Amino acid sequence: MNSTLICPSCGMQYPEDEVAWRCRCGSYLDLAFTPRFDPACLEGPECFLRYKSVLPLSFPEKAFTFGERFTPLHSMVFYGVPVWAKMDFLLTTGSFKDRGAFMMVNKCRELGITRIVEDSSGNSACAMAAYSALAGIEAHIFMPRGNSSAKTVQVRTYGATLHKIPGNRADCARAAEEAAKNCYYAAHTWNPYFLHGTKTVIYEIMEQFLWQAPGVIIVPVGSGSQLLGIWLGLQEMKKAGVISRYPRLVAVQSEHCAPLKNHREGQLTPQLPKDPILAEGIAIRQPPRMRQILEAINETGGETVTVTDRQIVDALKASARQGVYIEPTSAAAVAAVEHYKGRLHKEDRVVVTLTGHGLKATPRIEQILDNS
Ligand SMILES: [Zn+2]
Repeated sequence: MNSTLICPSCGMQYPEDEVAWRCRCGSYLDLAFTPRFDPACLEGPECFLRYKSVLPLSFPEKAFTFGERFTPLHSMVFYGVPVWAKMDFLLTTGSFKDRGAFMMVNKCRELGITRIVEDSSGNSACAMAAYSALAGIEAHIFMPRGNSSAKTVQVRTYGATLHKIPGNRADCARAAEEAAKNCYYAAHTWNPYFLHGTKTVIYEIMEQFLWQAPGVIIVPVGSGSQLLGIWLGLQEMKKAGVISRYPRLVAVQSEHCAPLKNHREGQLTPQLPKDPILAEGIAIRQPPRMRQILEAINETGGETVTVTDRQIVDALKASARQGVYIEPTSAAAVAAVEHYKGRLHKEDRVVVTLTGHGLKATPRIEQILDNS
């Protein structure tokens, strides 16, 4: 299957084997790929490749996998609001990023790429390192020096080369772009294949709900790779006639890094503090796909919710008390549930995506406990 990369800004097209990671005009690229989805044709075990008909892979039967399975939709209650928690932190490397890494690494293999560069606050670095190791690809990972050691150790354990960069995520991205002059920049923040992997979560959720769309989906948003994957999958399912309306997509950000709120208010997002913020996984000051994130929120009648550190800590503890140990970035999405207290119809099913495992944030959670 040959696909074309297309620039939504200037219309420029690139054959996929040109392995461009952004358009010459500076915009992100999308994939010109419109699969036909038919739930009646699904077969095989409950895994990523169950949705191979909507994945842009030429040889899905040859794909490298860790034998992933559907993550549970777990019934929980926060602030008196019943929610369905999508337990993506239970994927192989402990975060939802496995979905995108699975797709991107397998695409790299199909394109004959043997060396990649990625920059990340942690979870996508771990996922890319693990799937690269599985597929025999040499991975160079750039992470901010101050990041949680739980994640840097995990990246190194998979065998990737870790480059610790002084400064914040933006400094890291610049260093990775420089290194990418000599090998493929597999940036989850830019790459459309990553989104075609993360979209599997909404196919799973829909199948788990017997193809009845929930009312609201609450997602933590940094670069938007989960929200945009969900948006992509929803559009495909609407085209296929599987759904007639979109669930409202709610994008959650931290008060310390809220470019969506700032954009709505016509303000620039301030520089990030030197030390990592509590919800470090969503500390992206200028998400490359900002325009697409706003489109997803607007087209679904969704909204942006900004939460405080205090709310994140309370949500993290409330989740742990129900047996679910998540990292602060995921707790940000849980904290946003409070916003919906008393505002929902009974039939409005609420999904909250739990994106990363608490064990990946041990030093950060230790700080929380020491300070409270
Ligand atoms: Zn362009």
